[in-house]
Amino acid sequence: MYTSAKSMMDACKEQNKTIYELQLQEEMEAGELSKDDVYDYLRKTYEIMKKSATAGLDTPIMSMSGMTGENAYKVNEYAKNGNPVSGALITKAMARALSTSEVNASMGRIVAAPTAGASGILPATLVTMQDEFDYSDEEIFNALLTASAVGEIIAVNATISGAEGGCQAECGAAAAMAAAAIIELRGGSINDIFTAASFALKNIMGLICDPVCGLVEYPCNLRNASGVVNAIISADLTLAGVEALIPFDETVGAMGNVGKELPVSLKETAIGGIAGTETAQRLYEEFLDK
Ligand code: SF4
Repeated sequence: MYTSAKSMMDACKEQNKTIYELQLQEEMEAGELSKDDVYDYLRKTYEIMKKSATAGLDTPIMSMSGMTGENAYKVNEYAKNGNPVSGALITKAMARALSTSEVNASMGRIVAAPTAGASGILPATLVTMQDEFDYSDEEIFNALLTASAVGEIIAVNATISGAEGGCQAECGAAAAMAAAAIIELRGGSINDIFTAASFALKNIMGLICDPVCGLVEYPCNLRNASGVVNAIISADLTLAGVEALIPFDETVGAMGNVGKELPVSLKETAIGGIAGTETAQRLYEEFLDK
């Protein structure tokens, strides 16, 4: 397992391989799998991602609690019929992120990449890239491998748990993975992959975990929508030539340290932040009375 961007970049150079090739090799060795086995698994994974990212676009989905939902439908309709300020690609990507978030909140099937709370970001990114730019399934699977390498380094060196490190660790990690996947698809360099991932983490450094009523619904769903946008802009900033002053590994370390310094009230305890507002507390009382 590669535990840092530096070790991975060094290995890519030494072995003349891409990140996804190294990650494929890792998966094959760790699971004693053939290349076909790994790609079959990726195919099944991406199928679930596609279903969750599209389920709520034409059919409104409410959460089990009844507190949130139907936003993927609204945003998709707006993308189709409105004149979105952020453009059709971004608006459709947000609708897809909301869709998976709503499937999750209605107890449907999602891929927790890296977690259920942040499960909308990577699928929305991949589906949008394929829809807009016609990437093949195999190219998407390779981007998934690259994303998984980035997620693994974050998990090993910091955390991907909101309860441990705040939402920066969930939606931040997911956006970093998605930004890396975009760079892979666009044919960027190995350095670009980690630069884009580092931008996504920097953009939401310190974001707290404050789900209303302790349910993975709100503001989680909004952060999935903004997470896919974070991934897209992080990739575009990188491809435009903006350089990472602070490298990925140090950014991950900073994110882990910020997570440790966050008070318990801001780490999935539903005490502080948005969960601590008057309205959220009233909703919690009503939820308990149900
Ligand atoms: S607010 Fe907390 S529970 Fe919701 S997505 Fe972020 S980390 Fe997960």
